[in-house]
Amino acid sequence: MSVQLGMPQPREEAGPALPSVPAARPADAPAGLADRYGRRATDMRLSLTDKCNLRCTYCMPAEGLEWLAKQAVMTAEEIVRIVRIGVEQLGVRELRLTGGEPLVRHDLVDIISALRSNHPDLPISMTTNAVGLAKKAAPLKAAGLTRINVSLDSLHEETFTKLTRRPFLDQVLAGVDAAWAAGLGPVKLNAVLMRGINDAESPALLGWALDRGYELRFIEQMPLDADHGWTRRNMITAAEIREILSAEYVLSADPRERDGAPAERFEVRRRVPGLDAGGAPSAHGPVLGTVGIIASVTEPFCSDCRRTRITAEGKIMSCLFSREEYDLLGLLRSGADDDALARRWQDAMWIKPKAHGMDHVGLDAPDFVQPDRSMSAIGG
Ligand code: SAM
Ligand code: SF4
Repeated sequence: MSVQLGMPQPREEAGPALPSVPAARPADAPAGLADRYGRRATDMRLSLTDKCNLRCTYCMPAEGLEWLAKQAVMTAEEIVRIVRIGVEQLGVRELRLTGGEPLVRHDLVDIISALRSNHPDLPISMTTNAVGLAKKAAPLKAAGLTRINVSLDSLHEETFTKLTRRPFLDQVLAGVDAAWAAGLGPVKLNAVLMRGINDAESPALLGWALDRGYELRFIEQMPLDADHGWTRRNMITAAEIREILSAEYVLSADPRERDGAPAERFEVRRRVPGLDAGGAPSAHGPVLGTVGIIASVTEPFCSDCRRTRITAEGKIMSCLFSREEYDLLGLLRSGADDDALARRWQDAMWIKPKAHGMDHVGLDAPDFVQPDRSMSAIGG
């Protein structure tokens, strides 16, 4: 069995997408987690673990990704302290717990209880694969979790197993229902479309979500897979997703403000066969719900990015595609006070790159260097 500690060399390698000389944060920089381009991060993504019980092909290798040592991962107390600094000193207004798979952390309920008791009004959501969620949804709600995002790429046992390399579809579906029943709504579902595997299923997946009142979001596959199987040519773009869905549905822009959200939202109506495609969407009947498309590769939203990320081992990442990380946990464990931790975090965010570089020169140009971490090791 080959063991991968980092990642293999990127397949599509070329020029730098990141600034080469980090600029020091000036004394008169704006408060909070501001950067050089006028953005301010208020949305914190915190990874609770790098471990996972699935092996999604677009994220992890089938085997051989070595877990972090237990002592390298943030403890519950460290997590609670870092979030407190983010909220009280740095303007964090929203927290998303992620991983790896957050549900594999045995102290998850305790972490959420502690966060909730410190921050009664903070929206705390969690992205999960929902394996084992059926039993935990009610305790998580009681502990103070606000909402849940579940990854669900297929409703077909065989396709699900092919994509995740594990036969757990029933558990995931039970988990989604339990989350809804426990009051962890609105339930959002995340689906990554893979060509020739689940792309053709996307209208059916949308229909299923609309029937149940779940908000489905399609995520463009990003080059963050441990296997380095991503290619520009093979990924399903947002334009294609809209095209595939339009066979059965009419999508029109959601009038609500996007407000920094990664997903572009559309209102969804069922297409009336034979009706003029260029006509008014309302001619196709009532709005059944919404669908989101997260087009990180082909229609990036970097200029309005409000995210700051902390990995499971307490590294600050200003962007999913950063190839530079700043150690917050090491500083915390060295005895630093809250102000010093806040300054380190601010410094790391100040040099957030302007954009991730995947979109610079068209889909066929080899301009982008894949980061060293896979999605599971960052916290998506
Ligand atoms: N294990 C949890 C889950 O799957 O929901 C949380 C962590 S997972 C890394 C967070 C999100 O990242 C999931 O919705 C997953 O579909 C998405 N993701 C993982 N790898 C991706 C990739 N290469 N491109 C796009 N999205 C990806
Ligand atoms: Fe695990 Fe989530 Fe990555 Fe799938 S996407 S392998 S569930 S971390």
